[in-house]
Amino acid sequence: MPASDKTPPARSTPVRTTGPARTQVRPATEGWTQKKDAEGRPLLQFASPKRGKPPVHLADMTPEERIAKVKELGLPGFRAKQLSTHYFTHYTSDPAHMTDLPAEQREELVGGMLPPLMTEVRRLTTDRGDTIKFLWRLHDGALVESVLMRYPGRITLCVSSQAGCGMNCPFCATGQAGLTRNMSTAEIVEQIVRANRAIADGELGGKRASDHSMERVSNIVFMGMGEPLANYKRVMDAVRVMVAPQPNGLGMSARGITVSTVGLVPAIRKLADENIPVTFALSLHAPDDQLRDELIPVNSRWKVDEALDAAREYFEKTGRRVSIEYALIKDMNDHAWRADLLAEKLNARGRGWVHVNPIPLNPTPGSIWTSSDVDVQNEFVRRLNDAGIPTTLRDTRGKEIDGACGQLVATTEDEAAAAAMA
Ligand code: SAH
Repeated sequence: MPASDKTPPARSTPVRTTGPARTQVRPATEGWTQKKDAEGRPLLQFASPKRGKPPVHLADMTPEERIAKVKELGLPGFRAKQLSTHYFTHYTSDPAHMTDLPAEQREELVGGMLPPLMTEVRRLTTDRGDTIKFLWRLHDGALVESVLMRYPGRITLCVSSQAGCGMNCPFCATGQAGLTRNMSTAEIVEQIVRANRAIADGELGGKRASDHSMERVSNIVFMGMGEPLANYKRVMDAVRVMVAPQPNGLGMSARGITVSTVGLVPAIRKLADENIPVTFALSLHAPDDQLRDELIPVNSRWKVDEALDAAREYFEKTGRRVSIEYALIKDMNDHAWRADLLAEKLNARGRGWVHVNPIPLNPTPGSIWTSSDVDVQNEFVRRLNDAGIPTTLRDTRGKEIDGACGQLVATTEDEAAAAAMA
């Protein structure tokens, strides 16, 4: 291909693709205006607005801290392990189920160690019961969602790490709603425990056998509400609880945990040094700064090349193959030349270190963009694969219940249902 085909075109100029010339559709030309801060830079909310703190819970503490807290409550330290077993292996916080604890102190002990963190407001089910979206109300009324999905051979939970999100990406419903607050470590973990409870109770469809008791969430994706690396410490503490062997944690495999980010470069570097081999995913969505500046406002801080360098470093330090996420948006970022430019930038950083996961854009409320046509999607994937970059179109789940990537946001209906419960 001639070099000129790879040059990002100027705004609104026709872009030559394999088909007839098409006009490039950009946020600015479509009437979407990026929110700006007082200095005129793209709006990004990193700090969590101050709200009442969620109650401190066993899942927020290290095993040593749990023992100390139980002693403070006037009981011997070994009770901490019993409580952890109830929580992490039986998925219960109900004192009535804890007959191995002394009846007189049970309520107080459970109240102090396993305080209620979230109330289920409602759940929506699709895919013949294989996909469940949970809407949770946190102690202060903040609303978050998680999505549970059964696949052949694995059960994945998409968890939220923040109520809302401060990253302001125009094509994501969560990003458009702004940041309410960071979630605590225990609030992140509780989503998994509650999902495991639902599975154990036989509430997730698809399993033919009658006994669900041995089944549980095997994979976690931090692709619910929030930017996980903007809530770094709590997210990493939650990951540590996920991988800690039972009964002190959930005993999950780090490889089954995917941390997805808009590209907060210093935090990516920190993650690479944690020595926990989670799967790392970078939401790139455009290989050129000109477009990524508009699609991912944080690109105003860390550019495409910096984010890709950090992703490559993650691979070098951990040996874990990195994922590049790319939502295919019709006439916006789905051009053949962008597939080629992406392949070029990835190959320039070595071979075998990365794969690309394009996903057709999911519709969001009031969205001005749609997903790419199927032939354009296929061409995008083909070009990357031909260039030696393993690329697979990601299957999208839960669209019918607004539970797919980018669709998680508290609607007025959700708010009303939550208010009716409070
Ligand atoms: N903040 C993190 C994780 C949350 S979103 C991140 O951005 O990576 C998980 C993935 O869904 C990201 O790749 C995100 O860009 C993508 N996404 C957001 N809105 C989407 C939409 N409308 N359709 C498809 N994918 C979307």
